Formats: sequence, C-alpha cells, structure tokens
Amino acid sequence: MANDPQQIKLRELPGVDRLLQMPETAVLLSTYGRALTTEALRHILDETRTGILQGTVTAVPTPANFVQTAADWLAGQLAPSLRPVINATGVIVHTNLGRAPLSQAARQAIAAAHSYSNLEYDLAAGERGSRSVHATQLLPRLTGAESSLVVNNNAAAVLLMLTALCHGREVIISRGQLVEIGGGFRIPDVMAQSGATLVEVGTTNRTHLRDYARAINDQTAAILVTHHSNYKIVGFTSEPSLAELAKLAHSHHLPLLFDQGSGALLDTAPFGLDPEPTVPGGVQAGCDLVAFSGDKLLGGPQAGILVGRADLIGRCQQHPLARAVRADKLCLAGLAATLAHYVRDEALTAVPVWRMISLSVAEVTAVAQEWVAHLHTHGIAAELVDGESTVGGGSLPGTSLPTCLVALAAANPTALAARLRAEEIPVIGRIQDGRYLLDPRTVLPEQVDNLIQSLVNWAKEEIRRLGD
Ligand SMILES: *Cc1c(COP(=O)(O)O)cnc(C)c1O
Repeated sequence: MANDPQQIKLRELPGVDRLLQMPETAVLLSTYGRALTTEALRHILDETRTGILQGTVTAVPTPANFVQTAADWLAGQLAPSLRPVINATGVIVHTNLGRAPLSQAARQAIAAAHSYSNLEYDLAAGERGSRSVHATQLLPRLTGAESSLVVNNNAAAVLLMLTALCHGREVIISRGQLVEIGGGFRIPDVMAQSGATLVEVGTTNRTHLRDYARAINDQTAAILVTHHSNYKIVGFTSEPSLAELAKLAHSHHLPLLFDQGSGALLDTAPFGLDPEPTVPGGVQAGCDLVAFSGDKLLGGPQAGILVGRADLIGRCQQHPLARAVRADKLCLAGLAATLAHYVRDEALTAVPVWRMISLSVAEVTAVAQEWVAHLHTHGIAAELVDGESTVGGGSLPGTSLPTCLVALAAANPTALAARLRAEEIPVIGRIQDGRYLLDPRTVLPEQVDNLIQSLVNWAKEEIRRLGD
C-alpha cells in the first residue's frame, strides 16, 4: 500500500527537527524555550497524523502552517485562566465574579507592595516589626474596637476565634443561626473543626434570651451570634438583640462572639436597602469579638477580620492556627488603602461597592441612556427597561435596588450571551424574559468603552452573517 494517498501524506509530514530549524520557529524558541516548543510541535504533528488517518485532514499543512498552529497552541496553554470580566449582571458583590472590585488606591497599594517592603520591619527602630500593624492601625478607629487582627478570609477568622477561645468547651448558638454560607461553609462544621461543642438553643424561628440563659453552665466558653446574611426568617420570629445577649454573656463573664459576615461599616438603610447589622454597631452593642469579610460590603481584598477586646485578639494572635491563616502582604496593602477611604469619609465615591450601592436610579438611567445613544450610532437597537440590582455576596437577601437596564434586541439571547463571554474581556449580562440585559450599575466606568466595542463587534458580525 506504499502508494496509498494516506501513506503518501503521512510520509510528507515534516519531522520535529525540521520544524525546529525553521526560521519562523526561532521566535517560539525564544519566547517559550526549547522543551515547550518541541512539545507543541510534536502535539500538532500528532494531531495532523490522526487527522490524516481519520480522513479529516486532506492536505498536509505547510511547515509555516505547522509553526503558526503551534504558536496558537502555545499562546492558549500559557494564557492566564484568571481574567478580568465586565460584570453587567447588576449583582454588586458577585460571588462568581471575584466579589468586591477594588478601588484605584487599593490597586495601587497592592502594586506598590509587590517588591520588598517593611512588612515585618520597624523602619524607625531598624528592627523586626509586626505585619499586623499595617491594616490594624485604622480598624479600631473605624469600628470602635480596642484591637484587631487580619487573616486570610472570614471562614478562617471564625475558625480561629472559636479554636483559640472555645476549644474543648461549649458554645451556645441559636437554632435559627445554624447557617450554611455557601461553598460548603456551615457553622456547625466549623464548630466541630474548632474542637468546641455546639449547644443549640431555641427553635428555627424563635429563640429567647432565657433559652441562652438556661444553657449557660461551667463548661460554657462563649455565646456565638451568626448573622444569617443570606436568608431571611419572616413571620412569627424573635431573637434577642446583640445588646441583650452581651449583657447576659457579661453577667456570666463570658464573651459574646459575633460573625457579622458582610463587613458593612456603613448603614445600608439610607440607600433603600434593609438595615444590615454593621461592624461598629456590633462593637457598640457590646460584642467582644466581631468577625467579618474584607471583600463583601467592606469593598476590599479577600480577608477575614477580627475586631474586639485586646485580650481576646491577643489569644487569637498567639494561637498556632493564626500563622496558618495569616494575611499576605498584598492583602494587607489593599485592605489598608480601602480602610483609608472610610477614614477620609470618601467611601461612597471611592469604594466601588459603595459607589454602586449609592447610585440613584436616575444616575443609572443617565448612563444607560448614554449607552443606548452610543449603540444607536453604530446601528444597534437597544432600549431601556426598569429592573433591579442586588447587593449579592450572600448579603441583604430579598432586597434590591431599582435600576435601569439596557435591553438588546437579539434573535437569540443565549447565543448573544455566549458571544459576549468569548470577548477578550468577557461581558457577563443576564437573560430575562427572552431578552439580553445589561445593568450599568455594576459596570466599572473604565470598562464602558470595552463593553460598547464588544457590542459593536457583535453587531458587525450579525450584519455580515445576515448578508451572507
Ligand atoms: C461570607 C460569610 C462567611 C465566610 O466569609 P469568607 O470571607 O467567604 O470566608 C462567614 N460568615 C458569614 C455570616 C458570612 O456572611
């Protein structure tokens, strides 16, 4: 079968060595190194060989074609899988899209912290310092707490707090607060990990102060309150206030621990949202430790923060687990810069999450109108529709902000959504009632040009497709 066309084609395939010597390959060798480039060329040759045998490859590509295909393959292999996207969903703290976007200042602070820094160096004394000073300077001022500690995330903060303070003893919690936050994070499981024994009191919908009081004994280490941040219990419900629980705990010389969750330093009620317990509110009510996330309503980088009594913070800090869950330098830099916005009283304009929360529907409408006008100049039909944005991130369930959406006329909204996700900076919108919708509230101002360009690219393709 020596003259079988398949065999002829297989024989025409260049060898790896020949491809490696092609002048076009030189740039691949210098960019990716010999080992990876060789792997790429072998891979492309193997694929072509299989294609010939299966009859899907009918002509042997030129050596230059091989090198080009290898270049594409290499670029694909090394492309970062974590990429920026445009969040046009209207969900402000989007759990799947990286939660809080950082402020300009926080981004700059993180960039500046990349190199050597005085992370654990006291510049004035010229000796070893503590990494915890960097973000913890501002936290007492902002929360009213005596002391603070920053760790990797809030799950770690809760685990550390329970392990350091309650290991081998009992922690009292209401049955209405045995929550699952998402991603498998369940309060009862964390308790078990900490070595503390969970003592459940009350019922799902109602827990009274006397339920807590009855459960206190000489094995009790603390009372824990978990903010049910991602669901609402409505109807016949009651829970003692933080202040009442603090009074009860303190009368038994026990600490009141509060997993506040969202990290809200500001009140959400002025923006038409449900009131969310705030961190300063928890401290003021008498909580001895408050645990919260850095990247939900605080609007900073991923972090877990504990604020409260200095002696309790000290015990957390000295526990071996603290080292295992400590925050890295980039996080501390970004967090300090984010906190500074609150100290300067500019959070509503400088912290993206709060800027988005505080945008009025009139302001969103003005932006949406601009987009629609811009799209019309490119021959793209779009209209404004009323809708709702949500805070997300497992906070403020069941409440939303009125918004103005841009609806695109697309024959196939699902195909449009997929097309926009394939852009260099993918656009994530939403589909509702057969329409593709974009919410300007969550689109960062610096991404608008990219968004419009993506829509123009799509529209051009559509016109070409319809013309064919
Ligand atoms: C989000 C949340 C957590 C987990 O925080 P991470 O920062 O995601 O680890 C824990 N408790 C509550 C109440 C939360 O809302």
